[in-house]
Amino acid sequence: MTMTDDEIRTIYHMIERYHAKYLAAAGVALPSLERGKGYTRDALTLVYLARDYPDTHVVSKEELTSFILEFFPGTTDVQQARHLAAQKGWYILSGTRGDLTSRELKAGEYQLKALEEPYPGFRPQRRQVAAGDWWEAMKADYDYCCACCGSREGRPHRYWKNTVTVLQMGHRDPRRPLTPDNTIPQCEKCNRPDRNWWLYDQNGRVVGLSSAAPVLRCDDALRREIWALLDEEFGKKR
Ligand SMILES: [Zn+2]
Repeated sequence: MTMTDDEIRTIYHMIERYHAKYLAAAGVALPSLERGKGYTRDALTLVYLARDYPDTHVVSKEELTSFILEFFPGTTDVQQARHLAAQKGWYILSGTRGDLTSRELKAGEYQLKALEEPYPGFRPQRRQVAAGDWWEAMKADYDYCCACCGSREGRPHRYWKNTVTVLQMGHRDPRRPLTPDNTIPQCEKCNRPDRNWWLYDQNGRVVGLSSAAPVLRCDDALRREIWALLDEEFGKKR
């Protein structure tokens, strides 16, 4: 089924009111309705699921995909509904095993359950909540890709094909706060094993250490080389 621009805006503004009243404080992020010349997939997905709220409809993935396809030609497989639930905290039920399920739903079906409460058990990523709009703008600047490995948000990871890429705020220098000039988008795979050891440039390249820990993992020869250099620099002062 198709929707007019008026319908889309009306429903989005309803969602916006519920979000402000019930969800914002829980750390659920409201996707912006538009970016550049068109709507965002996240907003379209929410709007489609929220039709006739609170008497929402069961929506199949195929139906959702064909709706999104009108705005994004070439769309083949819409992951937004899962993503909005598990990652962003919207209370969307899914019939797919492993997700929060509802017995009434079949695999590949979704239903928006409530706009008055977040997805059960949702824990916002504190970093993302504090960031606000610049983070969305930054992801757009990086074409929604991880600065380090290039995996694109919402798409299968380049190397872990069964993992849908989620972009997180990665530190360029972990010793400083996550301000815009100290942040790069990183996928979970690149961000998680980072261990706060590295300094990155804006393009996700490692340009230094932010911890002495990796030195201990170097082989003997390299550690002796480092030792000698540091001894030369600091030995006399000690
Ligand atoms: Zn990555």
